[in-house]
Amino acid sequence: MTKMESCDVLVIGAGPAGSVAAAFVEKAGFHVRVVEKEKFPRFVIGESLLPRCMEVFEACDLLDVVRKKGFQEKFGAKFVRNGNVADYNFSDQFSPGWTWTWQVPRAEFDTTLTDALRERGLQIDFETTVTAIEFLEDESSITTIKDSQGEVEKIKAKFIIDASGYGRVIPRLFNLDAPSNLLPRKAIFAHVEDPDREKHEEPNRIIIVNYSPGVWVWIIPFSSGITSLGFVSDPAFFENTRGDLNIKFRSLIENLPYLKNRFGASKNIFEPKKLEGWSTKTEHFFGKGFVLTGNVTEFLDPVFSSGVMFATVSSQLAAELVVKKLKGLPVDWQMEYSDVLKIGVDTFRSFVLAWYDGTLETIFYSKKQDPLMKKQICSILAGYVWDEKNPFVKNPSAELKRLAKIIDFEERMGISA
Ligand SMILES: Cc1cc2nc3c(=O)[nH]c(=O)nc-3n(C[C@H](O)[C@H](O)[C@H](O)COP(=O)(O)OP(=O)(O)OC[C@H]3O[C@@H](n4cnc5c(N)ncnc54)[C@H](O)[C@@H]3O)c2cc1C
Repeated sequence: MTKMESCDVLVIGAGPAGSVAAAFVEKAGFHVRVVEKEKFPRFVIGESLLPRCMEVFEACDLLDVVRKKGFQEKFGAKFVRNGNVADYNFSDQFSPGWTWTWQVPRAEFDTTLTDALRERGLQIDFETTVTAIEFLEDESSITTIKDSQGEVEKIKAKFIIDASGYGRVIPRLFNLDAPSNLLPRKAIFAHVEDPDREKHEEPNRIIIVNYSPGVWVWIIPFSSGITSLGFVSDPAFFENTRGDLNIKFRSLIENLPYLKNRFGASKNIFEPKKLEGWSTKTEHFFGKGFVLTGNVTEFLDPVFSSGVMFATVSSQLAAELVVKKLKGLPVDWQMEYSDVLKIGVDTFRSFVLAWYDGTLETIFYSKKQDPLMKKQICSILAGYVWDEKNPFVKNPSAELKRLAKIIDFEERMGISA
């Protein structure tokens, strides 16, 4: 007969979203169990964090274990186009909050979180996949899981937090996916040697290079001396470069002096990988007996490194509401969860659209930047996208367009410095 065990909360996925959710539920004294499809450490992309994450790690007692690992500290974001530089230092931001974070190889980072949880006594089943879920009348559920030996087990849970990232377990099982309104994009990336990094740039920030119209590059140095390097564009652009993935990757480096000088002679740590079609959306972030967190909710685009920040912030909020519910208190999931997340998602959506339509390039590379507006934009880049005192949160699209229009006018009239 199939084994059946019970818990208060079942968390699907042990990425940052799953680990953070489990940490908060466990901290509140409830029995939580995590199931994770992969064996850790496993590779996943998403290596440059935002300062807003730090609040979450601190609140669920995961900050100190990460700090001990000596990951590369990150103090800002630098944008580069044809020798023009827009440097945003998080210590200049408008909203109160953390002014630094980390750049992390995710295999090591995610394992640091799961190791810490296991030390607290929390059960995480690796190489175990959720294959089916049945929701019962009282909102509890019975989930079928299968381990690497093919062993099947059932878990009865009072509530499920789905943090399965690109696995999208509940949206797939219950047809909740909605089409994304962002254009499809593709990335080709690898980890590379970076022996001369000090000569070229400070390693303590992410560097985003405008490669050519619609094509950009991320440079994310790690404390090991290795750097993550990735190219992002619409998929058609990569078709124009001949050869296999490695030849494409190397010729993209060769074609820009900025990259050629720094990485032209360095070796890849692993063969380049590709990813595409990552923008996702779901009809609902919650339902009877479950809540979605992290990438399962909605993932927009990697340009502003917002993924892990949303993963952790959404998981904290979701876990706190699940705990409230388990304590018998009423929860308005729409108002207390979806509507709150939407503020941040919509702010970043406006920034992503403004990045690809050129509005942000006009702002970033203008010769004269209003210092207050620079601080306000800096807060968005640090992940403080819920501070409604910031006009770029309150009305992001209109504010960005208005600012770009003023800059454009001033530059045409020769008013700028
Ligand atoms: C090209 C690219 C670059 C990016 N760069 C950045 C960046 O610099 N900074 C940043 O913050 N974000 C970045 N992101 C986004 C980042 O990858 C994600 O937002 C982040 O990993 C989300 O965390 P998560 O915990 O929600 O999901 P994940 O980290 O994907 O974790 C989900 C886990 O669920 C498990 N799972 C899946 N299916 C099942 C199942 N059926 N049963 C059990 N377990 C399951 C998976 O194995 C996985 O371990 C980038 C994304 C892309 C596409």
